[in-house]
Amino acid sequence: MDDSQMISEVADALADASRVVALTGAGMSAESGVPTFRDTLTGLWGRYDPQRLATPQAFAADPSLVFGWYLTRVRAVLSVEPHVGYDALTRLERHMPEFTVVTQNVDGLHQRAGARKVVELHGSLVGFRCFDQGHPYGFEHIEELARDPSLGERVAPPACHVCGSPVRPGVVWYGEALPATATAQAWSAVGEAEVVLVIGTSALVYPAAELPMAAKRNGAMVVEINPDQTPFTPSADVSWRGRAGELLPRLADAVIGAEVS
Ligand code: NAD
Repeated sequence: MDDSQMISEVADALADASRVVALTGAGMSAESGVPTFRDTLTGLWGRYDPQRLATPQAFAADPSLVFGWYLTRVRAVLSVEPHVGYDALTRLERHMPEFTVVTQNVDGLHQRAGARKVVELHGSLVGFRCFDQGHPYGFEHIEELARDPSLGERVAPPACHVCGSPVRPGVVWYGEALPATATAQAWSAVGEAEVVLVIGTSALVYPAAELPMAAKRNGAMVVEINPDQTPFTPSADVSWRGRAGELLPRLADAVIGAEVS
């Protein structure tokens, strides 16, 4: 099946569907310039093992190193914009009766592109809180630190205004449970969806990687958009080899464009 046949097959399914889910991973943000998980292994922080940095134990052992690493990620995310693939998903959301984004990303780009229903499975880089009690910490203070050019790699975390405990990013670290509400919303959306788009995820990080399989079991049409094969590829109904920023606008145009013109 060539690209145009795939577009029309998926566009037809979307046009008929009332419940759609887009499951997104780090590849969704690659064209905006946010490194994927794999890229971070070779990038600026490549000499550190993310599994060693992204744990509560690592934060307790060396808070300045871990806080500094996340400040670098905040800086990176603040300096990029959501690409046209994000806009395409937002256009689809506006067009469909029920459209939910379930993302493993923590960069907040779906929301910045105007998406209204976003389930963040792995938390958010935009929401910091204190380590001991979970008191929220204003992101404006984090932004100020992220924009301070005088800070180096290691940055001592600020103290919580309520209890004095060190402030940590609101992302899910290795060994921590996924947020219960987001998990329930993700399973419920996938359980009801007629079409599920799986975009830019290596389908290796569990439990998020179970969601495309669950969609299959529930009888949804599951469409993978990824330049590379993944462990999920053999199970996908349509497996589309390409970049999110190229394919999603074409798909949104095929679903919506004809009605607008
Ligand atoms: P991953 O890095 O394991 O996989 C990324 C996938 O995206 C790969 O399969 C790759 O082939 C694909 N990809 C690359 N460019 C693409 C493009 N232009 N269009 C479509 N697909 C493309 O990422 P993952 O599966 O999300 O899992 C890694 C973990 O890392 C997640 O837990 C996630 O929370 C975290 N993470 C998040 C961000 C972010 O928030 N942007 C960035 C890095 C890592």
